[in-house]
Amino acid sequence: MQDRVLLDHGSGGGASQRLIKELFVSYLGNPVLSSLDDAACLQMQGKWAFSTDTFTVDPLFFPGGDIGSLAVHGTVNDVAMLGARPRFLSCGFILEEGLPMQTLEEIVASMARAAQNAAVEVVTGDTKVVPKGKVDKIFINTSGLGEILTQEPPAGSRARPGDAILISGNLGEHGLAVMAARQDLGLQTGIKSDSAALNHMLVDLVTRVDQIHVLRDPTRGGLASTLNEIADQSGCSCLLKEEDLPLAPDVSQGCSLLGLDPLYLANEGKVICILPRDRADLALQILRSHQAGKNAAWIGEVQDRDPGRVVLRTRIGGHRILAMLEGEQLPRIC
Ligand code: MG
Repeated sequence: MQDRVLLDHGSGGGASQRLIKELFVSYLGNPVLSSLDDAACLQMQGKWAFSTDTFTVDPLFFPGGDIGSLAVHGTVNDVAMLGARPRFLSCGFILEEGLPMQTLEEIVASMARAAQNAAVEVVTGDTKVVPKGKVDKIFINTSGLGEILTQEPPAGSRARPGDAILISGNLGEHGLAVMAARQDLGLQTGIKSDSAALNHMLVDLVTRVDQIHVLRDPTRGGLASTLNEIADQSGCSCLLKEEDLPLAPDVSQGCSLLGLDPLYLANEGKVICILPRDRADLALQILRSHQAGKNAAWIGEVQDRDPGRVVLRTRIGGHRILAMLEGEQLPRIC
């Protein structure tokens, strides 16, 4: 194979075929993908969750992950948020002419590892190559299908006054890690992205705890924006306690240095769980028994006054309104 991606690799002709067989099928292969038919043939019953997401992260490789693993984790997690077991992924690549083949290979190998760890199969895909300068190196779209395991799937509209709000771990790591990895900031930190597939932990959670009202991953816009969406959809408010928010000291320091608020930074391996408070201790115990949830915490409660509002009770007892993020704090974070 050539050492760079050429326009010909997206032509549908011989070079495309070689790229598909020698790279994509060789790393991601399974009987369905390897059949190389126009569509995947899947046999399924019951209720399914279906989601799609597109990944444009810059840089492609950052501490704790890369665009390939992120593209798998992001879609796997969105599917899992409906109380579903993710099973199948599609992936579409838009490649820039001239992209080093080795870079593409590293990304595809990383996707294959992530898919294997999450126990999902890439069953269909597509590759396009555009002329140099028409896209920045590589963009990836993934879609995912997962089998819903609960009678009543968790949904953003189901938060109820009195419910407990849990978070599965430390906040802001992905956003800060990607920002630090952009050379123009010159920030040296040891912070790693939290990018991870949460499906094994969430399947354990939803099959052992009934009445989970909401599961949602606080990605772009962070915890504060995601809770605003939930408060809006449910017609409730959320009260958070500052002293209970899990935050690693280096994230806290990095944020102070850059003037960023960790409550608005993206996470790629965290889940917000909202459920009746009498089930919160069991849910916390299950989350903490998984590596991805070891720092899980009970951070607040759902209330009925001021519907749509998210409020933080600070350490000194003041109240701060956490509005929905406006504008793009950090473009191309995922
Ligand atoms: Mg999501």
